Amino acid sequence: MKQQLTGPQPRIVAIANQKGGVGKTTTAVNVAGELARRGQRVLLVDIDPQGNATTSLGIAKASLTVTTYDLLLGNASPETLPLATGRERLDLIPADQELAGAAVELVGVERREWRLHDGLVPLLPRYDWIIIDCPPSLGLLTLNALCAANAVLIPLQCEYLALEGLAQLKTTLERVRESLNPTLRILGVVMTMYDGRTNLAQQVVDEVQRYFPRLICRTLIPRSVRLSEAPSHGRLAYEYDPHGRGAQAYALLTEEVIGREERTV
Ligand code: ATP
Ligand code: MG
Repeated sequence: MKQQLTGPQPRIVAIANQKGGVGKTTTAVNVAGELARRGQRVLLVDIDPQGNATTSLGIAKASLTVTTYDLLLGNASPETLPLATGRERLDLIPADQELAGAAVELVGVERREWRLHDGLVPLLPRYDWIIIDCPPSLGLLTLNALCAANAVLIPLQCEYLALEGLAQLKTTLERVRESLNPTLRILGVVMTMYDGRTNLAQQVVDEVQRYFPRLICRTLIPRSVRLSEAPSHGRLAYEYDPHGRGAQAYALLTEEVIGREERTV
């Protein structure tokens, strides 16, 4: 069960899809960055042992002393965990390989799906948004994200069989709602790596539009080399290529995310 909380609460959005390489991290870091640019106080939580969100912000994993692992295991006081990222209003709880052990270490621990939620409680007053970058699986780490979150944003790559993966994910989310977190909603499905020159990309978008007209986000994230280059420079899209199509798409997506959240408050 979620803890009962009083006062204004941040919106907590998990960026999830069990499929690997669909644009979860790219979406998490760029939406978090765009929210911060719009004056929102944002905490990005990296709950993937790959630590890609951490690296994408230009933070060296070798420099980390405390991570999401310590939050889940209760090794550190939550207030000490958020790192400044060098960007105004954008903090990060980083992750590294150590987090891979958490799933095993939490077996048998009480409230093991709620460790992230419980750990974030003392931090809630500091932020307007918490964005959680999930690993490509539906294991305990993702479950912790889905229990802590109010909403899920699902990046879906414009490729063959995308719809099949989405159906599977929707079933899982339904189960999480029934058994753990009844207030979890799907914020939207964002189509990523869209290449308007191929028929396949358009067909996939049309199909998702047909089956999930309310879920699909209007903004399509284009396939863009600049978007894929930015993380290796530790930069967000708007920092690396501010006028590029990728940066502009993430700015629009962020407006849409804000609008979708406001409609449901
Ligand atoms: P994982 O499941 O491994 O965590 P992910 O779902 O987080 O992956 P990303 O890391 O965001 O996916 O993206 C996978 C790869 O595709 C990365 O190399 C990333 O830079 C690249 N990429 C993401 N979005 C785009 C895009 N719109 N255009 C081009 N390349 C992209
Ligand atoms: Mg990722």
